Amino acid sequence: MSKRFDFDLFVIGGGSGGVRAARLAAERGARTAIAEEASFGGTCVNRGCIPKKFLVYACAFPEEFEDAVGYGWTVEGAKFDWPTLIANKDRQIERLNGYYRRAVERPGGVIIEDRAVLKDRHTVHLMRSGRDVTAEAILIATGGYPSRMTDAEGAELCITSDEAFHLKSLPKCIAIIGGGYIAAEFAHIFHGLGSDVTLIYRGSKVLRGFDEDLRDALQESMRKKGIRLILETMFTSCRRVGDRIHGETRAGETFDAEQVMLAIGRLPNIQGLGLENAGVKLTPRGHIEVDRYSRSSVDNIYAVGDVTGRLELTPVAIHEAMCFVKTVFGGEPTAPDHELVATAVFTRPEIGTVGLSEAKALERGYTVDIYKTSFWPLKHTLSGRQERMMMKLVVDAKTDRVLGCHIFGPEAGEMAQLVAIALKMGATKAQFDATVSVHPTMAEELVTIRSKMATRTPGSLA
Ligand SMILES: Cc1cc2nc3c(=O)[nH]c(=O)nc-3n(C[C@H](O)[C@H](O)[C@H](O)COP(=O)(O)OP(=O)(O)OC[C@H]3O[C@@H](n4cnc5c(N)ncnc54)[C@H](O)[C@@H]3O)c2cc1C
Repeated sequence: MSKRFDFDLFVIGGGSGGVRAARLAAERGARTAIAEEASFGGTCVNRGCIPKKFLVYACAFPEEFEDAVGYGWTVEGAKFDWPTLIANKDRQIERLNGYYRRAVERPGGVIIEDRAVLKDRHTVHLMRSGRDVTAEAILIATGGYPSRMTDAEGAELCITSDEAFHLKSLPKCIAIIGGGYIAAEFAHIFHGLGSDVTLIYRGSKVLRGFDEDLRDALQESMRKKGIRLILETMFTSCRRVGDRIHGETRAGETFDAEQVMLAIGRLPNIQGLGLENAGVKLTPRGHIEVDRYSRSSVDNIYAVGDVTGRLELTPVAIHEAMCFVKTVFGGEPTAPDHELVATAVFTRPEIGTVGLSEAKALERGYTVDIYKTSFWPLKHTLSGRQERMMMKLVVDAKTDRVLGCHIFGPEAGEMAQLVAIALKMGATKAQFDATVSVHPTMAEELVTIRSKMATRTPGSLA
């Protein structure tokens, strides 16, 4: 790399993608700097996956206490203290912030705690220090932020997931606007911790894009738990009435809550980034446009992670960053692979899914065999919990290859991760069947679903 520049690589954004790219580039000997304007670790560590999972763990205990009774336990006097949970979570996150910084510093990367904006295709301006820094390659990994784009009156009273992690107290009742995975997860978190939860969503079913059977199973379970669902209508207004917020929908339904949380999508962090100074183009949806190697419309500027809007998940941002470093600093052009990415929705019970939904497979022209099972997990036979588990395999009828696996039930996320390896290797249904099970587990049902439920052809989609 040329010594004409201060650095070989300048990374803007110290989140999942940025930190991984900076670390790997520095390990390969590239002179690397990374700017972060807030806290290292980005969304995932500070206001995403990790703090959310702590809240998910916390919200599980009341059901565990209930289940324990069938196993002979009496749990008396259990009490929950929100400030303790939040303080413990924050302490752990502070530790992780340090870990992410050191990951870049250890191989010689330079940490810059500042907001960085593009001045031209090789120059970055640091807003707080007022310095300009040059680099041969620039990586934009600025992530995203929760959308507040709603026409609802009084929306300024609403919080988003960012603030939900820092509430002073647990709301006795909360309304959540949205039907994506963040809305569904927070509905379960607050419900599990004891809040009254209302979820308002303009669609007819939560989790658009997921397999229909998963959507049905989750929605039914939410209703059974007592989460109030207001569907197929828009949230139109809210106003403060005393210490509560009174809200309304277009259909005239009303709700009262201590907090109203918007979970209506996320937007890319590109405002004021100086993209126009360098000529970096955007997609029609406002993300940074990149080619298959994550290169932007300017050939020395790359982008990875949520700011590119490809698949907004932490492991995907990390994977894209690893491919970027291989391509630019390893002389090995490597395009990220976005197929068969397993993912989880941490509701209770949770969802684990990998590969094509039935609808997506049909849309792609496959004729599919559907295998499905629904059963009562062994643990619940003593606990008495009336919660069934659902597993579904979408199989290519022509080749017998398993195209998708969709699980609703305890530990579904853990299972999806392992099934993803088999699917990535091209496993067939016959190979699933030839696998001897681990007994007694829930996962064993995946290799013992014998009877085909249906065969569907692309035409049957309508
Ligand atoms: C509530 C919630 C739950 C989630 N749960 C999961 C989950 O369970 N599993 C999962 O895989 N994903 C989850 N995600 C998504 C995941 O957090 C993101 O996909 C991931 O963090 C994206 O990484 P990134 O590197 O693209 O950006 P980010 O992690 O957002 O990092 C971008 C960083 O850039 C910094 N920055 C922005 N602009 C500038 C600038 N001009 N100068 C300097 N710094 C700048 C920001 O401060 C930020 O730290 C969740 C997200 C949310 C909001």
